Amino acid sequence: MAAVTIALLLGTILGSFLNVVISRGPRKWGLVESADRPAGLAFPASQCENCHRKLSAHELVPVASYIALRGTCRACGAAIGLRHLLVEIAGGAILALAVWRHGVSADAAAMAVLLFLLLALAVIDAETGYLPDALTWPLLALGLAASFLPGGTGPLQAALGAAIGGGGLWLLATLYKRFRHRDGLGGGDVKLLAAGGAWCGAYALPVILLVASLSGLLAAVAGMVLGQKERAMTAELRFGPYLAGAIALVYAIGEPLALAS
Ligand SMILES: [Zn+2]
Repeated sequence: MAAVTIALLLGTILGSFLNVVISRGPRKWGLVESADRPAGLAFPASQCENCHRKLSAHELVPVASYIALRGTCRACGAAIGLRHLLVEIAGGAILALAVWRHGVSADAAAMAVLLFLLLALAVIDAETGYLPDALTWPLLALGLAASFLPGGTGPLQAALGAAIGGGGLWLLATLYKRFRHRDGLGGGDVKLLAAGGAWCGAYALPVILLVASLSGLLAAVAGMVLGQKERAMTAELRFGPYLAGAIALVYAIGEPLALAS
């Protein structure tokens, strides 16, 4: 239990680093227009995105500092998005879940890496509409590597999952473009499903697609019911967050199912 508590605290710190990557990554990789391209991805460490003041030591304490400062910069008063708090909390939950499930092990590290990268991809896609190659390609490579671990899906399932997931979605996107003459799915979605297939195995692909499509549809319908038609239309175009969420869910739940069968 001590290990899980330490993982929870350490996870919120990793979550605050992930916030920096989510904020700077799209600018650093040239995906969004920006006057100043950040020098490092997570270093030099955190500063206010608005006034660029370096944060003092106690302001770097995750979760607590956000609540103490009520989500604003102490110097310039700029609002720090609620996303920062949510990603810190999610970071703690991810590392705690991984250590609770696997103890302090390579399998726990693999699970944490997968869920952290999926979290970053989901938030970046929701904020910018991009799934950066700088994250999707490593996620795919790491999935193939992690398949060799004791708790992994095995190299055959991983290779089949990547090929069928990526190839299948690529074919679907190409056909859609051919017949409807517009883009339905992005190349990022193709790479993300290939990575999902590598991490979860080929047999998990139908469930991943089903969960992603249904949750995306539900969100679009909910958006329309709540009268946010414009938001619903944009959400509909961004499949990445739902795909990332579905892969995370299937990996977290599918693991014990695979072990039991
Ligand atoms: Zn500031």
